[in-house]
Amino acid sequence: MFHHVKKLMYTVRVDSPDPRFGNMLLEQFGGANGELAAAMQYYVQGLNADDPARKDMLIDIGVEELSHLEIIGTLAKMHLKPLKDDFKQAQADPLAAVAGGGGVGLFNSQGNPWTADYLKVTGELDVDLRSNIAAEARAKIVYERLINFCDDRGTKDALQFLMTREITHMMAFTAALESLGKDRFTIGKLPPSKDVVNKYFNDSTGEGELGKDARGPWNQGNQWEFEESPAFAALKNGA
Ligand code: MN
Ligand code: MN
Repeated sequence: MFHHVKKLMYTVRVDSPDPRFGNMLLEQFGGANGELAAAMQYYVQGLNADDPARKDMLIDIGVEELSHLEIIGTLAKMHLKPLKDDFKQAQADPLAAVAGGGGVGLFNSQGNPWTADYLKVTGELDVDLRSNIAAEARAKIVYERLINFCDDRGTKDALQFLMTREITHMMAFTAALESLGKDRFTIGKLPPSKDVVNKYFNDSTGEGELGKDARGPWNQGNQWEFEESPAFAALKNGA
């Protein structure tokens, strides 16, 4: 069960509200990499997890994301407030101004409604943990961009806190994944086909203003077999 404490996880202070910035903050309220998406993804994964220790972690972090949602929602609301009765300010986010009265809604910065389609829930713990590590990386970079677009001291402090916690979560999810002790490329139970798994297909050819074929650890050395495009091979064989 849930219990709400009438306190923010991080105290929010806004010195100069900026509706245009408030609109950008909606990305982390109702956007694809935002706090509601994170909260729901980890919470639903936690409900589905059979491993009690990692289930506990998923739900703990999911609940923390709800506390982040509360912080970012409070912050966005403070920045959006001037939209309500000022036509000039309202142009920064007409949807929030006209339909939302200067409040936050579960939309991204472009007015697209939040959707459960944002969530990655597979019912396979290690696969879900990989999605979560990537989700935290995305949340981190979005916070970093928001911080770079902001001059308000109090807002920057709160965003710095939220950005830091995403790194903390990335560390926890990574440790949880590693502690499963699974081989990095073993997903599920069925093994890959031995005859194609190590082939790198060179599906682009020639050299021009768009570059040339690159070699690196993704297609060279170790197990790699570098092969020309299957399309060319088929042509040569007269197929
Ligand atoms: Mn968060
Ligand atoms: Mn997080």
